[in-house]
Amino acid sequence: MNQIKELLKERFGYDSFRTGQEAIIEKIMRQENVLGIMPTGGGKSICYQLPALLLEGLTLVISPLISLMKDQVDSLNEMGVPAAFINSSLNNAEMNQRIRLAVDGKIKLLYIAPERLESAEFRQMLQHVPIELLAVDEAHCISQWGHDFRPSYLRLSEIIHQIDHAPTIVALTATATEHVAKDILQLLDIPQDNQVKTGFARENLSFQVVKGAKDSYLLEYLKANHGQAGIVYASTRKEVDRLYYLLKDKKITAARYHGGMNEQERSSNQEDFLFDRVQVMVATNAFGMGINKSNVRFVIHAQIPGNLESYYQEAGRAGRDGLPSDAILLYAPNDLQVQQFFIDQSESDITYKQSEYMKLREMNQYAHTQMCLQRYILRYFGEDAKECQQCSNCLDDREIADITVDTQKVLSCVKRMGERFGKGLVAKVLTGSKDQKITQWKFDQLSTYGLMKDKSQKEVTDLIDYLTAEGYFSLSDSQYPLLTISSLGINVLLGKQQVTRKQAAVQKRERDDEL
Ligand code: ADP
Repeated sequence: MNQIKELLKERFGYDSFRTGQEAIIEKIMRQENVLGIMPTGGGKSICYQLPALLLEGLTLVISPLISLMKDQVDSLNEMGVPAAFINSSLNNAEMNQRIRLAVDGKIKLLYIAPERLESAEFRQMLQHVPIELLAVDEAHCISQWGHDFRPSYLRLSEIIHQIDHAPTIVALTATATEHVAKDILQLLDIPQDNQVKTGFARENLSFQVVKGAKDSYLLEYLKANHGQAGIVYASTRKEVDRLYYLLKDKKITAARYHGGMNEQERSSNQEDFLFDRVQVMVATNAFGMGINKSNVRFVIHAQIPGNLESYYQEAGRAGRDGLPSDAILLYAPNDLQVQQFFIDQSESDITYKQSEYMKLREMNQYAHTQMCLQRYILRYFGEDAKECQQCSNCLDDREIADITVDTQKVLSCVKRMGERFGKGLVAKVLTGSKDQKITQWKFDQLSTYGLMKDKSQKEVTDLIDYLTAEGYFSLSDSQYPLLTISSLGINVLLGKQQVTRKQAAVQKRERDDEL
């Protein structure tokens, strides 16, 4: 074991391992297959790079990130470790030459993109390479339940079974729900007990959800944090362009990055950001995978992403150096429609789409919960945690109001409507709207019709969102989510449970005046 520590110091220059690293490396050295689940910035690369130096044979690294591959190979070469990559940027002759080096044992690590595995010829070739360790980076891409499924990853099991002398397998990911982790274990022949999962909490990140005027918040934030590097994510190319020009107009130095730009533009903009020539990178989610910039002080999502896995991964690009950093979601209900549209348009099958709709709802609930935000995310990944004491919910010092009566009104309305409708229509009934649908369904004859007419429809839908996030309703995984009452909700209807909510004191006072 001392040899491993010495190597860590000597080759990588680190005095100690980060959580999880040593456990993963030990298992690899015992030729046990292992799955490592560590947060972004947790130090996954060393988990296969270090064993690669100790092993006789080759370490084959599967990674979907072309930019990361090149960076890692460059830095390994600088350290004097012979390594190479193969991806679509190479011609056949170059590719064959690198394969030859691998066959002859002249390189220790070979990085390949998963798409290579699609070629039968390439798979054939791999049979002649003495692979001792197979490292699968971004391993969640193998699971249909992951947020970034790549069909070519499924070829991996084929490769594993084709190789005569079965290599040891190490799968690594920063985002795996229990469902995804199970898939990885099964597809890559990893024993159930060989999971190394380090805490997912990112203690240096302050999570915040901000509702209200997004542009002015963004501009004020950037002004107040002048000189600090950060990323602003948006969902569409058009919105990236709009925000980019908005910042430019306000003399904030920014670069942009999205799939509609050519490769040269993208890489030069990326460099401007990496080398601190601009303060802000405005980008779609095409930017960031494998970007190793440690001093990112904030990640702001100007539009809600499609699921919590992506959100946590993207937000996690802030503060990789361990210093305090912000992860801010600017929330506007309309932005959900963009994500909804992406799912509608995708060509995936219905089961997959349903799971995507569900994930979007869970993402939406994050914006409405009053639970500690870090805790909320960790729960989603199956981990319990203490309250972080620094997110916008932990720091929310508004008064706690008892909203049991309002909650009962909403629940009984949903019940009377047969639990077959979404929050929009429920809010209309409760506020006494004269919408045609209401009369058509005869909802104006319900006893709950107009029961909350002192509130706006928006206030009521906000309340429903809050109640959903807190678990009083269950949502269907259909395209248009229907509200059904959960067992927790039934307890409230039965008067067995109180419901509270933090809300602005001024609002409460207004209502007190009315009473
Ligand atoms: P991940 O792939 O998990 O996002 P990386 O492997 O890129 O993370 O590592 C993130 C950063 O942490 C890198 O700058 C890396 O050099 C550094 N790092 C990794 N292991 C250690 C360690 N044991 N001690 C100190 N720094 C480390």
